[in-house]
Amino acid sequence: MEMELIRTYLSWVRIPEPSDRVYIQECCISFDTPKSEGGLFVDMNTFLAFGKDYVGWNFEKTGNPVYLHIKQTKKPIPVDRPLKKPTLTVIGFDNQDPEYDETYSIVILPDYVTFPFPSTTLPDKRSTISVRLAVDVILSAEGGAEWTEKIASSTADKKQVSEYAWNLKQIDNAVIIPPSGWKCAKCDKTENLWLNLTDGMILCGWKLWDGSGGNKHAIEHYNETHYPLAVKLGTITSDLEAADVFSYPEDESVTDPFLADHLAFFGIDFYSLQKVSI
Ligand SMILES: [Zn+2]
Ligand SMILES: [Zn+2]
Repeated sequence: MEMELIRTYLSWVRIPEPSDRVYIQECCISFDTPKSEGGLFVDMNTFLAFGKDYVGWNFEKTGNPVYLHIKQTKKPIPVDRPLKKPTLTVIGFDNQDPEYDETYSIVILPDYVTFPFPSTTLPDKRSTISVRLAVDVILSAEGGAEWTEKIASSTADKKQVSEYAWNLKQIDNAVIIPPSGWKCAKCDKTENLWLNLTDGMILCGWKLWDGSGGNKHAIEHYNETHYPLAVKLGTITSDLEAADVFSYPEDESVTDPFLADHLAFFGIDFYSLQKVSI
């Protein structure tokens, strides 16, 4: 693989922010862990982990080429410390707990081009620095408890991950969404506005029972274009999951795991939002 291509691929790497879910204990589909034969591959854009049988599938689905590969191998038992026979054998309880060595590498799909990490430097200084930083944050941000908590809370409000989020096509109309002062593109409404995540059109929502609300321009736009997802302006904060994303074809409020990227496409720097909401 050419250096220039590798550099392009490395630009996909993100550094996890506090709002990112980072869970690197187990494949999100199979039961593979870093101790499994093929180790575990962490997508360095979404921070989801995959075993060797699913990393290719994730690449096909998302196009994300760069992975942190984590592999744990059993340390050889030193000769001066012979295996003690356990006095009592309990099934499922290993009192001869082996120690593991953990190794890391950066793997670029589809060819599984591998860079040992951190010993070998990547093509240029800039990508080396950003990849190192991302790996540091991934390895330190990881926490199973937090993940379980988040899963529990997202199950509680019953929002499903939209199937349209995965391969959402975004059209580059050079649209840059300003942080405030929005208006429906088809009428004068300045409230109850929805940003279509495909083309960046800002349009008004439904008319409410009391006559307030919008003129349904957002849903009319969906009926014409079939662009599936829109996010309500005013609900975007640094808490990604709190954003109000609506899926027209699924006809419900949904979660878009790639919302940060989808917003970045329209110039909304999600990660810089702290108390401000857009
Ligand atoms: Zn309107
Ligand atoms: Zn993305």
